[in-house]
Amino acid sequence: MPQEEALIKLFYLAAAVLFILGLKGLSHPRTAVRGNLLASVGMLLAIVATLTDHRIVDFRIIIAGFAVGGLFGAILAYRAPMTAMPQVVAVFNGLGGGASALAVGAAFEEALRGEWIEEITIQFSSSAAAAALVGAIALTGSAVAFAKLQGVMTERPILLPGRHAVNILLLVVCLVLSTWHVIGYTPFLFGAAPSAAADLSRGVLADDLRQGFQSHGLELSAELHVKTTGENQWQITDAGKKETYVVWLEGGELTVHGRSALPFWIMVVIASVLGVLLVIPIGGADMPVVISLLNAYSGIAAAGHGWVLNNSVLIVAGSLVGAAGFILTALMCKAMNRSLANVMFAGVGMTVTTQAQADDIYTGRVKSASPEEVAMLMEGARRVVIAPGYGMAVSQAQYAIQDLAALLESRGVEVEFAIHPVAGRMPGHMNVLLAEANVPYEKLKEMDVINPTFRQTDVVLVIGANDVVNPLAREADPSIPIAGMPILEVDQARSVVIIKRSLAPGFAGIANPLFAADNCLMLFGDAKDMAMRLVAALKET
Ligand code: NAP
Repeated sequence: MPQEEALIKLFYLAAAVLFILGLKGLSHPRTAVRGNLLASVGMLLAIVATLTDHRIVDFRIIIAGFAVGGLFGAILAYRAPMTAMPQVVAVFNGLGGGASALAVGAAFEEALRGEWIEEITIQFSSSAAAAALVGAIALTGSAVAFAKLQGVMTERPILLPGRHAVNILLLVVCLVLSTWHVIGYTPFLFGAAPSAAADLSRGVLADDLRQGFQSHGLELSAELHVKTTGENQWQITDAGKKETYVVWLEGGELTVHGRSALPFWIMVVIASVLGVLLVIPIGGADMPVVISLLNAYSGIAAAGHGWVLNNSVLIVAGSLVGAAGFILTALMCKAMNRSLANVMFAGVGMTVTTQAQADDIYTGRVKSASPEEVAMLMEGARRVVIAPGYGMAVSQAQYAIQDLAALLESRGVEVEFAIHPVAGRMPGHMNVLLAEANVPYEKLKEMDVINPTFRQTDVVLVIGANDVVNPLAREADPSIPIAGMPILEVDQARSVVIIKRSLAPGFAGIANPLFAADNCLMLFGDAKDMAMRLVAALKET
């Protein structure tokens, strides 16, 4: 192995180790910043090593790509608010998957033109097919996820008739085209034919070579163009059949290789349609699960791309992203007590509680309170637990809530935060927002830890949470979308105060009997506004 190549491989190895250490660091908030830094250094090493690769010929294109991509990424990262993080991740995933699909396509087209010829193997063509299939699904699926979360299209599931059959059909067509593409690129040996090679150099296809094609089942039309593409290398383009063959002479023997790239690109287009059809039937609030799954897909596409280019760091990084994405998807499904199939295919997100049913539950039972009354209730409490949900993210109430918690603590009240694993709209959503407002990490208690303490809690303040505190989840009725989902058992506390703007349902679309419970008070209004008014009222008491 030449010294330069060995050095590149060493850099790649170091980068892969740094990626793994980085991921390990990200598993805990205390080490997350260091983990992120390690992974970034790994990425820098990988980029530097790749740029020294002799196959990179035009630095102008690379610099242009850096400038355009860097500018787009920086603007997106700076301008996107925290509540829009799932969309931002969707954009990055989608672009990663799309880039892999296009890059393997480009490598393929280069191979068709007779470049990198030594690398066209079954590994090359099958990895290219897999990367392009999964990458294209990730690209358009992520675009739909982005559009749903950004409000560009309806968040509701779009349930087309016969969608499962159509999706299966499209997947089968993609697999058939991929197989065609893989088989079509397996070379065949024509054998010793010095005269045929000489004819090719003169732009002529000798009769015996044409017969050789026929004997391998390849009928050529009359519209043939022969082009010399390198030393002992030719490209035969069959304009009539829109197919291209690469022929090369090695050790006195002719090898014929290749067909049209058409099946590959048709497969990419169909996979792109499939990506859209797979994601439109999924409700907006399930998008984080979908985004995590598409993240895994973009990792697989990158790993496939690595196999096409024989690039070890791309294989390692892609596999890590793929595995992390699948694990996160599984964890989110588990936290919602739903299967991935239910998230992907059940169309959850359609409203299931009618107005009449909601009236039945709420009429005459809901008690509303003012900030002053709630302040008095909390002032007399020994222990207060704050249970945040999606509404806190929407109203950006985390700073006001931290002020409230600090004020209560200064008055000798014990305050903790109850964190449900799927509160909000992305994993760790509440943790990130509360960390942003400097809430000490040890105050955040996971569901399993805090649930046994609710009985000894005087007041639970539910801020913009709904499904994650809904006692209907305890019912075994399968028509309830959250049936069986573990919840924060806030109803067991002495008093529960719920801040939200109305009695509207949360993501699952169902009424919440907690709002009508005897020990429950509603504080109607925007979460941030109400938290600030509570602080003001507490200061006055
Ligand atoms: P939720 O059930 O969606 O309820 C959020 C509540 O916030 C709404 O009922 C809304 O009521 C209120 N709200 C919205 N804006 C508000 C504002 N400005 N001020 C005050 N309240 C506001 O949220 P959740 O309890 O956090 O549950 C999360 C849901 O998302 C679960 O069903 C979970 O399965 C799903 N999900 C989460 C993830 C994840 O990773 N976290 C992933 C997939 C799915 P009003 O309109 O009346 O104010």
